[in-house]
Amino acid sequence: MPRKIAIIGAGIAGLASAISLSNELTPKLSDLEIIVYERSKELSTAGGAISLTPIAQRHLDDLGVLSKLNQMGPEAGVEVDTIDLFALNSGRRLGPLRLTASKDAGCDNYKGRRVKRISLALAMVAAIEDLPKVSILYGKKLTGGNTTDDGATLIFDDGTSASADLALGCDGVHSPTRTRIVDPGNESKYSGVSFVQSITSAVNASQPTRSETTSLHIGRHGSILTSYCDPNREKLFVAAVLKVNEILIERYYAALEGDAAAQNSMKMSLRYLVRTQSNNSRSPALRKMVDHAEDWALCPVYQVRPGRPWHRGRIMLLGDAAHAMPPRDESTTHALEDAIIFSRTLSHNIGQPIANSFQEFECERRAFIDNAFDESFHLWQRNQDLAASLNYLKDPMSPISRPASPDVNVERIPPLSVPLPMNDSFSDLSVCSLTQEYLGSHGII
Ligand SMILES: Cc1cc2nc3c(=O)[nH]c(=O)nc-3n(C[C@H](O)[C@H](O)[C@H](O)COP(=O)(O)OP(=O)(O)OC[C@H]3O[C@@H](n4cnc5c(N)ncnc54)[C@H](O)[C@@H]3O)c2cc1C
Repeated sequence: MPRKIAIIGAGIAGLASAISLSNELTPKLSDLEIIVYERSKELSTAGGAISLTPIAQRHLDDLGVLSKLNQMGPEAGVEVDTIDLFALNSGRRLGPLRLTASKDAGCDNYKGRRVKRISLALAMVAAIEDLPKVSILYGKKLTGGNTTDDGATLIFDDGTSASADLALGCDGVHSPTRTRIVDPGNESKYSGVSFVQSITSAVNASQPTRSETTSLHIGRHGSILTSYCDPNREKLFVAAVLKVNEILIERYYAALEGDAAAQNSMKMSLRYLVRTQSNNSRSPALRKMVDHAEDWALCPVYQVRPGRPWHRGRIMLLGDAAHAMPPRDESTTHALEDAIIFSRTLSHNIGQPIANSFQEFECERRAFIDNAFDESFHLWQRNQDLAASLNYLKDPMSPISRPASPDVNVERIPPLSVPLPMNDSFSDLSVCSLTQEYLGSHGII
């Protein structure tokens, strides 16, 4: 039975695994030791805000994280049960999309939540502080290692190494645990889509609509999401979901390594990119909000080839390291479920060879994850084809190729009477994707 467990990466999958393994194994193994190795020197404040599904909230509650989050006051995020949808150009209200958890999932009492990534990470770390068997080591960047049927050796960029009875690769989409040890050469692939996002003060720039918490402005060339991310509605998260080419991504990362002037210039370029979308909107508030937001960041969406190995020797990949997928599904929920299901499987098989746990976990997860990947991939593929044909046919007539229309009171435009697609397990990404497909196929955008 693994007594010394190494977890690479203090992201959602890594921290959830540490909590879940501790909960499952502490009563059974008195000499259990779980160490999380994180490459950053401290938890990163980058990454904006994410949307958690009701199912993710239920898992966080089970892990004891939700209570920590709820103690964080304005940093606890804001619960979301509706996304207000608008057409980007006309400002026409397309209707509210109600977000309800599947009753089968036992999540009736949970809503969705918009929360800053850093707040979620801090709540998870606070939960870990109550667990004596778990420690987190920062500034430990994995660069390589090896594994046999008996154990794993990990090598870090500070010249140190560590051995473990079991190692979990929770180091995200570009995972060196995957590309250098478990499945050498299996690099992540860029999806072609990026988020350009910022968190800005809501004092100067209010929500561009009468939206309660979250609104999505859907256009043919990209969409803009705006969402409060605190209960006092003082902070607004704004994200444009756009096709972005890889040259800009390279330049972005080069600028991050540069001086303040290079970084500011890149932020201005990103704002310009978002403005090319928002300037077409008839909503003056949306344009104003984009103008007010300054600290823009680029977050490209990558994916990992499906059907590849998840484990080798004594190392298992979890979360994005194993199965990052195109932006549609609830990836955070998947990462949490990986952590919980793997821990329970290991606990259930205590005294058995680790290979049994690995096999059982794969039986439980592989088909589900492959299916989720296929659905996401085909949805985005169809969207991209659709967008391409719409551009070809309609661009000359589109308001996008003309100057912005004069400001109008968008609230007075009557809502469309088309029924909107419903998705009972949601994320902003899935809503954006599903709705674009639906509206596109009905010739509405
Ligand atoms: C733009 C964007 C928006 C998204 N929005 C949402 C959303 O709204 N809702 C949602 O559910 N999902 C969203 N996702 C997906 C979600 O962010 C991921 O699925 C989730 O973060 C996966 O968690 P993870 O722990 O597997 O990986 P990560 O969160 O990426 O964590 C990996 C950790 O490993 C560490 N690490 C990396 N390399 C090393 C190394 N060499 N050594 C040691 N540590 C290392 C990293 O520093 C990090 O802490 C979004 C993704 C993107 C790209």
